[in-house]
Amino acid sequence: MLKKITLLSAVLIAASLSYSWAQMVPEPRATEVWDKEPARVTPGEHGRPPSDAISLNASAWQSVNGDENPWTIEDGVMTVNPGTKDIRTKKSFGDVQLHVEWRIPELDAKFTDQDRGNSGVFLQQFYEVQVLDSYENKTYNNGQAGSLYKQHIPLANATKPATQWQTYDIIYTAPRFSKNGTVISQARITVIHNGVLIQNNVSLVGPTVYIGSPAYDAHGDLPIYLQDHDHEVSYRNIWLREL
Ligand code: MG
Repeated sequence: MLKKITLLSAVLIAASLSYSWAQMVPEPRATEVWDKEPARVTPGEHGRPPSDAISLNASAWQSVNGDENPWTIEDGVMTVNPGTKDIRTKKSFGDVQLHVEWRIPELDAKFTDQDRGNSGVFLQQFYEVQVLDSYENKTYNNGQAGSLYKQHIPLANATKPATQWQTYDIIYTAPRFSKNGTVISQARITVIHNGVLIQNNVSLVGPTVYIGSPAYDAHGDLPIYLQDHDHEVSYRNIWLREL
């Protein structure tokens, strides 16, 4: 009888140890996530937008007063009509992945510095990714093409010569504000210029300002703006994905 009890105890102890060991050995499946499947998106081919993108063609834009798009529109290309001021999207946005193609016209050599192919892509109205002919055109480094104007110098100058189409692929995270208007987190931007990473998730200290130090004012979703800086810069194939 005693022998039987001892044997049973031994079996139970062994089973218990085996169970404990199994608990200690990590199972691959324990770290696999099978729910929360990502939405299926068909990638764009040959420069076309992906299947879930919102196209920002000419009809998606209006004047800053809410009138009809005042820029020159031809064959899907929008060109700054100098003096008509910026244009903005009819719709407002928060976090986005934004694709923009832009082109600087052929310009006389007398146009230099900030006076050469100046325009800009403003995320949420206030935060400018500079557009400029920076191919062979000296200006302050935090004001050249791909700069977050007067806040971040691009990591590289990937500018192509004027008359060639160029791309910006922008990942934008909107700033977050508390109910009483204080900043919870600053805006963040990543910019890829012609396939080259030039801004790597940098934080903005506030809106783009020409003079002085910026300061945030709380806001929600806002339109994207394209800048009229009196230069005939062209845009095409603009699309975004809301994030
Ligand atoms: Mg500009």
